[in-house]
This record gives sequence, C-alpha cells and structure tokens, in this order.
Amino acid sequence: MNHTQSKALFTRAQERIPGGVNSPVRAFRGVGGDPVFFREAAGAWMTDVDGNRYVDLVGSWGPLILGHAYPPIVEAIIDAARRGTSYGAPHPGEVELAELICATVPSVEKVRLVSSGTEATVAAIRVARGFTGRDYILKFEGCFHGAGDPFLVKAGSGVETLGLPDSPGVPAALAKLTLTAPFNDIGAVERIFAEKGKEIACAIIEPVVGNMGVLIPKLNYLQELQALCQRYGVLLVLDEVMTGFRLARGGAQELYGLKPDLSTFAKVVGGGMPLGAYGGRRDIMAKVAPEGPVYQSGTLSGNPVAVAAGLACLKALAAPGTYARLEQISRALEEGLVAEAKAAGVPITLNRVGSMLTVFFCDTPVYDYASAKKADTARFSKFFHAMLHEGVYLPPSQFEAAFVSLAIGEPEVAHILAAARKAFRALG
Ligand SMILES: *Cc1c(COP(=O)(O)O)cnc(C)c1O
Repeated sequence: MNHTQSKALFTRAQERIPGGVNSPVRAFRGVGGDPVFFREAAGAWMTDVDGNRYVDLVGSWGPLILGHAYPPIVEAIIDAARRGTSYGAPHPGEVELAELICATVPSVEKVRLVSSGTEATVAAIRVARGFTGRDYILKFEGCFHGAGDPFLVKAGSGVETLGLPDSPGVPAALAKLTLTAPFNDIGAVERIFAEKGKEIACAIIEPVVGNMGVLIPKLNYLQELQALCQRYGVLLVLDEVMTGFRLARGGAQELYGLKPDLSTFAKVVGGGMPLGAYGGRRDIMAKVAPEGPVYQSGTLSGNPVAVAAGLACLKALAAPGTYARLEQISRALEEGLVAEAKAAGVPITLNRVGSMLTVFFCDTPVYDYASAKKADTARFSKFFHAMLHEGVYLPPSQFEAAFVSLAIGEPEVAHILAAARKAFRALG
C-alpha cells in the first residue's frame, strides 16, 4: 500500500498546523507512523489521497452511524444550504429538532443547541454550578468530556496517549475543583460524597465509557450512582455525546433505565455536522439565559445546515428495526474477532456495548482505568498497522472505541475478519 501523497501532505501540514492535525488523536502518536489523509468517503468505505480504500470503523469518532455521505443527510444539507447557511436568528428547524430530542429522550424537557460536545459539557457544568450554587464537580478516571478546562483531569485516551494527565494551561486552582473517582467503584463515590457531597454541583459520567476504550458499567452501578446523587443533591450529568442515539434510540439512559438531571449530546445528533446539545429538567434549564441568569451563547448555535443534517439523521434512525440490525452486525463482528484471535493464539479482551467495541490486548477483564492500562499498546500498534495495510481503518489508539455503522453489511464484515485473521496471525 502506497502512502506517498499522505506523507507529502503531512510534511506540509506540520509546517502550518500544530502536529499537522486539527485534533491530536489523528496524528497516530498512539500507534506510531504517519496519519493517512482522505479525499472521499461513501457508505462503509473511505478512500485516501493515494487511492487506497478502507472499511471505516471510526465513523468520524461516532457521528456516522448511518455511514459516510448518507444520501438523505446529504440532500438535507444541500437543501438547507440553498436557503441560507446561517441566519443568527430563530428558524423552524431548531424548534423541530428540540421537540424531537425531547420526545426521544424523556429526561430532556428543555434543550439548548450548541456546536460541539465540548461546548455542551462545559455549558452543562456551568448550569449545574449555577443551579446548585456549589463549585466542585465529580468526574471519573478515564472518562473524557471534551477539551474544556474542568475536564482535563484524568481524561482518558487523547490526553492519555500523549502522556499529559493534566494539561498545562489549566490552572491548578480550577483543576482542584474537579474531584475524580475510579469508574465502576460505587464505594469510592460514597466516600467522596460522605466527605464533600454537599459542596458538589454535579457528577458527570460517560454511561458506557468510549474514551478509555470501551468500558462496560457493572450491573446497577449507574443506578446506584443516580441514587447517591439524589441523596446528596448532586446533579447527575449523563454525557451521552458518544452513546446518545447510538446505544438505543433514547441513548444509554434508555438502555439502563436512567433519569439524569442533565444530558449532553453531539456526534450522532448532528448527523456528521458540527452540532451538540445539552438539556434536562425544566427547572434546571430555566436557569439558562435569557430565561435565567446562567450565561451561554453561540454565533452558529442552531445552525440551519447542521440542524437539517441532525433532523435527517434522527428521522432515519427512527425506522423500525434499525438498532436490532446494528446489534446484529456488531455481534457478528465481535464473535468473528474473538474467534480469529483465539485461532491465532492471541489473548484479547473484547468489550462491546451495541455498536461500540474495543479489542484490548490483554487477557484480564477491563472495567476501569487501571485495568485498561494493562493492555499491551505495542501489540495494539502492530495490529492497527496490519489492519490498515489490509484496508481496515481502526481508531489509531488502544484506548478508543471502534464504531460500527449501519453501512457495514456482510461483505464488509467478511473483509474486516479476513484482515483480522492475517493481523492476529502476524502477532501470534
Ligand atoms: C467526543 C466526546 C466529547 C467531545 O465532543 P467534541 O464534539 O469533540 O467537542 C465529549 N464527551 C464525550 C463522551 C465524547 O465522546
């Protein structure tokens, strides 16, 4: 496989863009080697600038649940753009999208649209602090909530891969207000709440972690967290940026029967365009300006083109059988990967919830940050490059989730498993 054009572009990019990329994980630092530059994508496949083709298991890190350039989304984008790319004023589409989000996720009674997941989580924390009058927040080790200052403490993959556990530029005085607990350890939350519960505005969590690789919540862990939050008046902020509209139509909260106080969304909700949202209890969202005193705004918030893409995406997902089909493809992939690893004598732990999965190169269970760190990253890197060579684009880090899209059918599953057979054997 020839990567001449990608290499030339990366050389140019490094001159004018920090690290040559506009988001760190894209630089392949987690696996070594140079990143691949893409020129086009359709359905399950991406084509790089040298003409090589790959089945995509990244899906733009989650948004592309329907695959690349899904025709109804592309049509909706073109149609909206012809009527103006931005008004900076209210329009019907944003009302329709807000109504659709609230109807799909019942804990969300009112919602504000923003342009990214980071914007959504930063705003949700501000609202939680404004509503409760408390300053501390609790997050969980390895969970990632975007690149906002309050979250760059034990923040998982992107930060982890670069070895920057606390980013320079985040004042220590601010980081001190972010308490952390291990994921899947309810006793740790009990101890923190017993000491500081009445000073904590909110607990923010990825219900299924995707940003340390996939971590599955233990039975009743999320329900117990919700009950503890209620006992101490700590708001529960469910960060569904990755899981929302993906693990079920109503997200992880539908799957696990949760009723968070606030939720954050991005990725799937925007259908591949820059769009995020935060929302929840009516009395809490009433604090948001101009209804209330907590300030939050955005020039391109509710952008008509992004909203049109989001609406087209959510409407397509409402078709009957969508999530059952996604589960079926994802399960076939899981079973095939486990079988190929076993046949090659390569020990792995495969974690999967719905269409999110990670192959960890270790033979012990992975359920939190410490157990994930036992994975052999050197082995993952070899596996990653072998898969890339065979035409499968995996997330370029051991500590990221792979995403299955509805564009992946039986031929693509066969292609991935044939590649995995070679890649595992090369390790065995
Ligand atoms: C991707 C992600 C974010 C950040 O979203 P951006 O759109 O990249 O700002 C926040 N939380 C979770 C759980 C995510 O997966």
